[in-house]
Amino acid sequence: MTNRLRKPYIAGNWKMNLDRSKCLALVKVIKGRLRDGNDREVGVFVPSLYLADVSAVAQGSPLGIGSQNMWFEDSGAFTGELAARMLREVGADRVLVGHSERRQLFQEPDSWMSKKLRNSLDHDLLPIYCIGETLDERKANRTDRTIKRQLESGFETLRAEETHRITIAYEPIWAIGTGETATAEQVAAVHKMIRRWLVQRFGEPAANMVRILYGGSVKPDNAKQLMAIDEVDGLLVGGASLQAETFLPIIEFDAR
Ligand code: PEP
Repeated sequence: MTNRLRKPYIAGNWKMNLDRSKCLALVKVIKGRLRDGNDREVGVFVPSLYLADVSAVAQGSPLGIGSQNMWFEDSGAFTGELAARMLREVGADRVLVGHSERRQLFQEPDSWMSKKLRNSLDHDLLPIYCIGETLDERKANRTDRTIKRQLESGFETLRAEETHRITIAYEPIWAIGTGETATAEQVAAVHKMIRRWLVQRFGEPAANMVRILYGGSVKPDNAKQLMAIDEVDGLLVGGASLQAETFLPIIEFDAR
């Protein structure tokens, strides 16, 4: 059994899936099943176009509503982008930063990450900072180096007193959407390494405020086992968050 220092956090990333009516219906079901939010935090990261409607439905419940991406300037000539303050305006209270699909498909460089994290915090949009290695990096024993590089670049401007507002998601890229989950040993080893890095950077009390989630082919049948790993504070769920039948059992994992 885990001895939790931090409130568990279950997050669903809907990516570019679900049309408006399906988003609204799913939020309604999740809202109906959430209790007071005292023993776990739940958030969904929805297509930005539907943020206003989805957050209106979620109103009055502890369900967090987030964007899957943001730009780091407040306004200007950035065609197609959305500022943190705009996302706040339509009801988002959180944001994903550095998801591997953004890094890989849209070539988002490390150098944007600290600016995005800085701007999201400045606008009270709570970030989940996604990091993780490719299969080639793991095979070449470069997992630690990759993770540390992503931590260094993301946390460049962050201060110890801000760590309680930050969540990290460790998502090995080879496990995302592949049905392949990292083993408990692999997850624990990387999460421990991240925590050690945070302690060195911020000191122990501040480092202990940061939640570290695992993401990569989380399903109802492996969620409890993943949450039983001491170092895992929560889960970032892609495919299994798209349907109530698979997402609710993950949200409702037995914390005992
Ligand atoms: C993700 O996109 O962050 C993710 C973990 O996806 P999946 O659960 O489908 O692997």
